[in-house]
Amino acid sequence: MNTPHLPSFDEKKYVDSWLTDMDGVLVHEETALPGAVEFIDALKASGLPFTVLTNNSIYTPRDLRARLHASGLDIPEEAIWTSALATAEFLRSQRPGGSAYVLGEAGLTTALHDAGYIITERDPDYVVLGETRTYSFSAITRCIRLIERGARFIATNPDVSGPSPDGTLPATGSVAALITAATGRTPYYVGKPNPLMMRSALNRLDAHSETSVMIGDRMDTDMISGLEAGMRTILVLSGSTPADKVDSFPFTPTRVHNSIEDVVPLVAQFARPKAERPASLTERARKSAKADTPTDADA
Ligand SMILES: [Mg+2]
Repeated sequence: MNTPHLPSFDEKKYVDSWLTDMDGVLVHEETALPGAVEFIDALKASGLPFTVLTNNSIYTPRDLRARLHASGLDIPEEAIWTSALATAEFLRSQRPGGSAYVLGEAGLTTALHDAGYIITERDPDYVVLGETRTYSFSAITRCIRLIERGARFIATNPDVSGPSPDGTLPATGSVAALITAATGRTPYYVGKPNPLMMRSALNRLDAHSETSVMIGDRMDTDMISGLEAGMRTILVLSGSTPADKVDSFPFTPTRVHNSIEDVVPLVAQFARPKAERPASLTERARKSAKADTPTDADA
């Protein structure tokens, strides 16, 4: 059942922009899930803009593109949006030309540099915490002392743990909890489920929420942030949220499908006919896919 104030697939027929989560939807531990290649191909064939999102702040879009390519998925850098990029964009809008002490990897430091930020240990405006596999005691201590001296505390994403072939890995939210326990200060989290992550992705595509769809595998992050950003949502059951848990949430996705394989035909089915598309939509799509669609002019 659809809530009356949210557009269902049928009420708002066309989908002009597609947003999708990465892990549990397109890939699982660096292996492409069935239908993922076909879904990306369908998006490219549709001539519509799209974005692949991840709360992972370790990698730059270039790194992620290479990793996805190794698993068989050809996704342009421009179509990848990470919590690190969303955090850098947020800080640029909050305090242009600011400074930050960063505990994280290249995905985060590169994004902040590109946003015009100075990375420094001396009196920074912000302490920015992201994901890394090498959290050090001295770096965490530095974060705590800088926050005590007045630096604002920002974290890329609230995930407390992540999967690995060997078992659970502690993630950004767990380290943030440690810093919070020591300082009494909680961070502002930019990544999912904060709808800011979705809104910044939409803004970047120059897309409207009511003609956009968010696909994800988690009710408590992907679906709620898509819903709160005003988008239609599709839950796929190939990742974190199993079918028997969907009804235990107080909100519902617009649609539920077994996997991305079932979403492939929807791209063409809900695409606005090309003759009816405004020039701006075609231009946005061209920009979002330019990295890997070489034309004669590029050759
Ligand atoms: Mg996921």
